[in-house]
Amino acid sequence: MKKSRIFSMIMAASLLIASVTAGLADQNNTIKVQAADPVVICIDPGHGGTGGRNLGAQYNGISEKQVTLITANAMKAELEKYENVKVYMTRTTDTVMSLKDRADYAKAVGADFLYCIHFNSSIAHDLYGSEVWISAYGSMYQQGYSFASVETAQLQALGLYQRGIKTKLGSQGDYYGILRYATADGVPCALIEHCYVDHGVDLSFLKKSNSYQLLGIADATAVAKYYHLKSAALGVDYSGYQNVSVAAPKTPVANDLTAPEVCRIDSAVYDKKTKTVTAKVTAKDSGSPIIYYSYSFDGGKTYSYLLPWDRTKTTDTVSIPNPKGASTLIIRAHNQYDFYTPSSAYTIN
Ligand SMILES: [Zn+2]
Repeated sequence: MKKSRIFSMIMAASLLIASVTAGLADQNNTIKVQAADPVVICIDPGHGGTGGRNLGAQYNGISEKQVTLITANAMKAELEKYENVKVYMTRTTDTVMSLKDRADYAKAVGADFLYCIHFNSSIAHDLYGSEVWISAYGSMYQQGYSFASVETAQLQALGLYQRGIKTKLGSQGDYYGILRYATADGVPCALIEHCYVDHGVDLSFLKKSNSYQLLGIADATAVAKYYHLKSAALGVDYSGYQNVSVAAPKTPVANDLTAPEVCRIDSAVYDKKTKTVTAKVTAKDSGSPIIYYSYSFDGGKTYSYLLPWDRTKTTDTVSIPNPKGASTLIIRAHNQYDFYTPSSAYTIN
């Protein structure tokens, strides 16, 4: 189905006018929001296969290869409620598929975008939240970032903590194979790590009976907003949705490889009545946002679980329970790439 040429020209003209009025005359800043008709989406449920290979994260009965398929199916079902969209899946059963084959499949079906569905785990089982990995390169970064901005908002609306939009470079380009292959194939790609299957904060969400359905619907809604889709069945129309626009980087967007430059306790005052320390903390990192903090009352031998850090602030005041009335405090600032810097030990007043 092709829209008439005249209609396309009017659309192109109005998009141009909209870009100019928004001060985005630079072509690099123009996000592709009116894809081919229909929009072709390829969903890639991560991992898969029997015989103990490529299972993905495994924790307390949660198998990543299974929950990615459940989420992907929910995403597909939801997306198909919209008009003007064609959805493909790289796999619909528990089968092995290489990363290159997944990217090549997306290209073969003419996908406008490839969405890779994943769940996370960490070695120390200490991390929680969602993150979206995108290509570090040019227009692939640009489109990835624009989509990921919508995606993170949808996941945040479900109550999940957002670790952010991330890139990672390896020796051959994008570190993650699926992003590298999709970029080589010219298919924009986002790898969505919905949350951690091995942390209580995220498990409190995942334990809900319809959690994977909700995640799939969130993914589909992000796609619908990004591509300005409409659904009579759902009674929604995202044709006026404002996409986030970033310039295409001229050099690859490198990941942060170093710990935060500053973590300092400016003051720490103990309230005997509430057994709480109120600490003023300054944390800075020029390479990536500070996303968590943790604290120690035993000189840095042991630390608390990770707490959300308000990344809009450099200096923040935090309340820390100190039931045993410890006399020294150390705070550690953790950045988006999970590098951390401890403060000096501070004598609590
Ligand atoms: Zn995975």
